[in-house]
Amino acid sequence: MNPLDDGKFDNSISIIGGGIAGLTAALCLSLTAKNKHPKQQLNIQIFEATKRPTEEGAGLQLSPNVTHILRKLNLLDDLIAKAGQPDNIIMADGKTGRQIADIPLGAYATKRYGAPYLVVHRRDLHAILLDAVNKRSNIKVNFNYELIGINQFADHAELIFENHGQQKYINAQLYIAADGVWSPTKQALNLKNLNKPQFSQHIAWRTLLDADKFANKYKTTTHVWLGSQAHIIVYPISQGRKLNFVAFTEGGFKQKSWAQPADVEDLKTHLSDWHPDVQNLVSQAKDLKIWPLCAGEPEYQQAISNFLYVGDAAHPTLPYQAQGAAMAIEDAACLANLLYSQNDDWLTWPAEKLANNLRMFEASRDARVTKTQKTAQQNAKIFHLSPPISWARDVYLKFISKFLRQRLLSRLDWLYAKRYDNF
Ligand SMILES: Cc1cc2nc3c(=O)[nH]c(=O)nc-3n(C[C@H](O)[C@H](O)[C@H](O)COP(=O)(O)OP(=O)(O)OC[C@H]3O[C@@H](n4cnc5c(N)ncnc54)[C@H](O)[C@@H]3O)c2cc1C
Repeated sequence: MNPLDDGKFDNSISIIGGGIAGLTAALCLSLTAKNKHPKQQLNIQIFEATKRPTEEGAGLQLSPNVTHILRKLNLLDDLIAKAGQPDNIIMADGKTGRQIADIPLGAYATKRYGAPYLVVHRRDLHAILLDAVNKRSNIKVNFNYELIGINQFADHAELIFENHGQQKYINAQLYIAADGVWSPTKQALNLKNLNKPQFSQHIAWRTLLDADKFANKYKTTTHVWLGSQAHIIVYPISQGRKLNFVAFTEGGFKQKSWAQPADVEDLKTHLSDWHPDVQNLVSQAKDLKIWPLCAGEPEYQQAISNFLYVGDAAHPTLPYQAQGAAMAIEDAACLANLLYSQNDDWLTWPAEKLANNLRMFEASRDARVTKTQKTAQQNAKIFHLSPPISWARDVYLKFISKFLRQRLLSRLDWLYAKRYDNF
């Protein structure tokens, strides 16, 4: 009998949310346990609200700080087989199409950081992670388990899930909330001072385009067009068969949920005076979806001492440095490193020691995730400048691109060169 069938189950780790953060946390912890504490009886249960793996999402850029971790998990080769590796990023003016900057990636980035800069479909990354999770006997993913509440007792907490109309009560020694930007886990705590993520007034219009409609024009390069209060990014995924298209605009959308269907005509209106290349891309858009972009200060919520937040649930960020999934994957590696860097088995730790270590994890992540969030906010301002200030930006970027091209990448060494694959 599945131990969850009796409605109550105790395990070592319960992870709420089977997205990028939840799956990677399970994998990093399971692998590290095997290598460093082979006798530990670790049992990880992931509870995911959706009925099956979701196809939601589009392209993701995965920088070397993360591809190092995926290599450690033995997943990099599988990912490369599905991903793209653009040679460079070309930034251009959204209206004139004139080039502003050319940032080296591809072989140059791999040599500089020792791991590649990839562009992938989120679905491919998720499928590779899920496949790896399913191969590990001490991890189980339970789909159709939606967290609906938390019972708090004097000395422990218990999660309440809805599964096929029934309530299931789950206990664990460690709870990892990886339930995304709106974190129902945080909501279930009913805290008055909860620092909720705010709608940034920025919207992402996302779709996938067939690459062959554009005669290989976008096959090896990431293209970015900058305009007033908007920018567009296009890069090849699925080994160049598809193009990930995202237009970022500002203002006017209040819906909370991800991925609402959008009208292509509305986007055409937004971009009616943009360069013909951009209009050509938009004209091929089908199945366009709108994503309201939310961000907030990192907030780990320590109301229950054996709870930990990772990924977007801990630190929702704007996607303008392409690091949301990256920070989630880094969280997973750092947590595994922390729990298994000591000689004794953390499952035997008293509650206070576990809590202290979780708080150490949060403190150790705070400066980096905050800097990454701030960099994304700055990028939002810089990318969306209007004339005449944008002219100064363009002159500066053209100069650097011509005379100090490598600086366009090396200024991000603090982000991309950092190694977290020592778990
Ligand atoms: C337009 C855009 C572009 C982006 N580009 C990039 C990029 O290039 N690079 C990058 O690194 N990041 C990028 N990101 C960010 C990235 O997608 C997210 O940061 C990342 O997916 C967060 O992963 P997560 O696992 O924390 O959350 P999610 O992927 O949101 O997963 C949360 C999971 O929790 C589940 N869940 C929710 N509620 C419950 C519940 N009540 N009970 C049980 N389960 C629940 C959900 O179903 C979901 O599976 C982008 C984001 C956007 C919007």
